[in-house]
Amino acid sequence: MKQLVVITGASSGFGAEIAKIFAADGYPLLLLGRRLEKLQQLAANFSEVMVASVDVTDYTQFESAVRKAEAKYGPTDLLVNNAGLMLLGNVQNQSPTEWQTMLNTNVMGVLNGTQIVLNGMRQREHGTILNMSSLAGKKTFVNHAAYVASKFGVHGLSETIREENASKNVRIMMVAPGAAETELLTHVTSKSALTDYQAWKDSMGGLTLDPKQVARTVKFMYDMPQEVNIREVDIAATRQD
Ligand code: NDP
Repeated sequence: MKQLVVITGASSGFGAEIAKIFAADGYPLLLLGRRLEKLQQLAANFSEVMVASVDVTDYTQFESAVRKAEAKYGPTDLLVNNAGLMLLGNVQNQSPTEWQTMLNTNVMGVLNGTQIVLNGMRQREHGTILNMSSLAGKKTFVNHAAYVASKFGVHGLSETIREENASKNVRIMMVAPGAAETELLTHVTSKSALTDYQAWKDSMGGLTLDPKQVARTVKFMYDMPQEVNIREVDIAATRQD
């Protein structure tokens, strides 16, 4: 029997594509994000699915949604910590509120989700947590200081948690994508940072990664036998520098 898959940030972009690929393979799903209507629209096409409006920075809300889904479908076997924000800007001008929101979502959200499912996975000695990082978790990009800090954070915490839980047969995985067409840029408030980003994309022929290919990668990683952990995949458009 297929076990429960929990996906954060499933209301758009990578998360929605990851949801589609697991639903097509018959997995029961819990889809989380703040925009309930978008989650409901997506879930309307799936058979075994629960959705909940959850802010991943709110531990209580997050935990309650996971426990409800587990009461119906059984324990979580895969958590995809995908929810994230990229608010570009340079440090001399950007609002500290943007840094706070981004670090809370991208780092605290991942820690919250991890703790919520980890004890159950340790007890069962089975389970996978896949964290959506970024190439910005491995190298720097102009106008990305706080985002880079958050994604380097995801890389660091993921590898630490992997080491801590390897003996319990729990897999911690990371995917580090390059630039892709999603809603990610729609929240950027700095016009100059957006112009710089567009110029960078244009310099690569405007080509970016199809979110469907990220979803395929996540599925491939999860489908490996439990005793094999693909710890990290970097995936980007071939033309990305
Ligand atoms: P989208 O903006 O399309 O998706 C982001 C998702 O995160 C949305 O579903 C959004 O849902 C959710 N989200 C944001 N904040 C919260 C929150 N506080 N609580 C719950 N859900 C939240 O962008 P992507 O699909 O591109 O982003 C997914 C992940 O991939 C992010 O972690 C991002 O950093 C990473 N990434 C993206 C790249 C790209 O170029 N697109 C490249 C590398 C990594 P809602 O608004 O409904 O809450």
